[in-house]
Amino acid sequence: MSWLRREDQEDREVHSLSPWATRSRDSGGRRLPEEEDSLRTTFQRDRDRIIHSTAFRRLQGKTQVVAAFEGDHYRSRLTHSLEVSQIARSVANALQLNGDLCEAIALAHDLGHPPFGHVGEHALDELMQGHGGFRHNAQGARVVDTLEDRYGYGYGLNLTQMLRRSLLKGRVPDGFPLALDLLPKQPPPLEAHVVDLCDKIAYLAHDLDDGLRAGLFVIDAARELRLWREAEELAGTPLRHRVVSRITGLLTTDLVETTDSALRYRLLSSGPPRITHSDARTVAANELLEFLRERFYRNERVLTVMNAGAAAIRARFLGLLADPSQLPESHRGRIRGAGVERVVCDYLAGMTDRYLLRRS
Ligand code: MG
Repeated sequence: MSWLRREDQEDREVHSLSPWATRSRDSGGRRLPEEEDSLRTTFQRDRDRIIHSTAFRRLQGKTQVVAAFEGDHYRSRLTHSLEVSQIARSVANALQLNGDLCEAIALAHDLGHPPFGHVGEHALDELMQGHGGFRHNAQGARVVDTLEDRYGYGYGLNLTQMLRRSLLKGRVPDGFPLALDLLPKQPPPLEAHVVDLCDKIAYLAHDLDDGLRAGLFVIDAARELRLWREAEELAGTPLRHRVVSRITGLLTTDLVETTDSALRYRLLSSGPPRITHSDARTVAANELLEFLRERFYRNERVLTVMNAGAAAIRARFLGLLADPSQLPESHRGRIRGAGVERVVCDYLAGMTDRYLLRRS
């Protein structure tokens, strides 16, 4: 058998993927037209550009829930993104959606996250009121479109339109500076919805794992959850890793089965079906989320670290606004075009937890 060229892979997508899938040939192209690669499809190339970006490497120093510097075994945004990508690939494979696109979206989906998780995000959004606000998904698009200027074109990573559009799932603050071709917002492909739900599966399972590991709650408390009880019975052991892995499996299989029947009975002409869990699993997943909110996300030990991070963001923001000459030269050069508030916000959002605290 001879090697597979890009065109062969594209042909294969046409024949093997579901009619609901996004084919590489429908990627919407790049803002700056480029010659196609001989080996890789456009989405595989998007994925590789994301992996080689600075923002991607910085995910290792960004907090998921437990601050990245508290221990080596907790999830960081980097390992979280890898877990999302792995689950999303499995789901895409099973549903015959485009796994390469899912993988690229998953690896990029948190690129816009500031240090100190959602608490950090909230702090930046408040500071940016009246200047376009802040949200991590919109910032992700800004990172790949503008801030990571790896090719020197002024088009960021010059990713495909479909990938960029996929990063904008969820609310975008009014006045947030997006590339003009992303406005007005267009519906993202099904692959983006898959990643969104796999993101949730990943964090529900791994936050349960990290919360137990950190000793913030015990297995007996987790047994309140019907998902835990079912998974423990299936695993035949209360061992944390084994039960958590079963929970991931239960939610993932449910997502595939429920979505598969939705795809099967939906005519192409009636518009895309919803990627969704069954009602029973949705209830069980929400129960787990509520449990994590109470015992993990709002735990005092977690919040103390997060709030200190948010305070550092606020102090640094005001300090840089008062004296923008402290900004690195590469950022100062963008003040005239983007405004000093946005440039300060971009600079802070790009920082890892450790870098922010070291600089404060
Ligand atoms: Mg995520």
